[in-house]
Amino acid sequence: MRTTLTLQELIEWRRVPGRTALLYLTDRCPVGCAHCSVDASGSSPRVADHMGLDHLVRELVASPDLRSVGISGGEPFVERRALTSAVGIITDAGKLVVPYTSAAWSRTVPSWIRRVLERSAAVVLSTDTFHDAGVTQRQVRVAAEAIVNAGARLIVQVVDVGESVRRAVDLVVDCFGEASSDVADVHVVPLIGVGRGADVLTVQRRHTVDQLPPCRAAASPVIAYDGRVTPCCNEALINGEGPVTLRPRIADAAELPHVVRAVTSAPLISMMRTAGPAAVASLPGFTDLAARSHRSLCDFCWQAHERSTTLTDEEERVLRAAALIAR
Ligand code: SF4
Ligand code: SF4
Repeated sequence: MRTTLTLQELIEWRRVPGRTALLYLTDRCPVGCAHCSVDASGSSPRVADHMGLDHLVRELVASPDLRSVGISGGEPFVERRALTSAVGIITDAGKLVVPYTSAAWSRTVPSWIRRVLERSAAVVLSTDTFHDAGVTQRQVRVAAEAIVNAGARLIVQVVDVGESVRRAVDLVVDCFGEASSDVADVHVVPLIGVGRGADVLTVQRRHTVDQLPPCRAAASPVIAYDGRVTPCCNEALINGEGPVTLRPRIADAAELPHVVRAVTSAPLISMMRTAGPAAVASLPGFTDLAARSHRSLCDFCWQAHERSTTLTDEEERVLRAAALIAR
């Protein structure tokens, strides 16, 4: 029996290690937003090996702890064959599926998309003024209504920029009236200064380690269609930046369970998820990071991972012990 997932449930599930994962289905997207954190475009790489991807998704859903898989990109709805197949494999395995979309497909709603929506527990619909480059508000409305009519929870995700939040709230109320909270949520998220977003968000505050919280994203790994694996949804990592230990690539789908376990339970990631940056910076081998300011939590995390490659055996033992205690 299909069930829906609210935004609050999704947020809570993502904090439980192993309960959720994200399938990054494609790099391609035709919308062309100026703030795109994954640098997606109409000519970005896309799925080439459909059988290999199916194998990857089967390995992913074999985990008994996994309960929900998000599907993002790029725009996953440009990958008709891959999206249809992945949604089928995930839901046939008894897991919930949550596609992410920009609504670029929604001048009309073809029957294959309707079937995907009908199998989805929730659909995250991203819309803000940057998306106006390639998606009209009419399309957003058509998509919102199709999602709710298909029985999925609508989660409108909106970057806090200009009129975007007010416009998203108005759209939801306009479509679904006073009872809109029964069928939809609005999730306000910050602009992220990576990918093309780095050209938009040019001024970033700096933070001391005490101001940086533990990382909530490090409980939900990302598996890309071509075998890239990351412990979290950091877009720059997905794009091949940052420490290589944080973004292994698997050659064979059978390696997936082992690699996912390795990246998500590594001592430093464990510490980032549980105790946070201040605790990491108190450990031998990392103490110089306490004296600096950092652009973001991820900036700190990357520097700590670079440090971790030069730890002595004793420092490595202390890190492992601290991670076990903090777990
Ligand atoms: S932000 Fe989303 S909709 Fe916009 S270009 Fe990137 S992937 Fe496409
Ligand atoms: S802090 Fe580290 S684990 Fe968390 S999202 Fe950033 S890069 Fe990923």
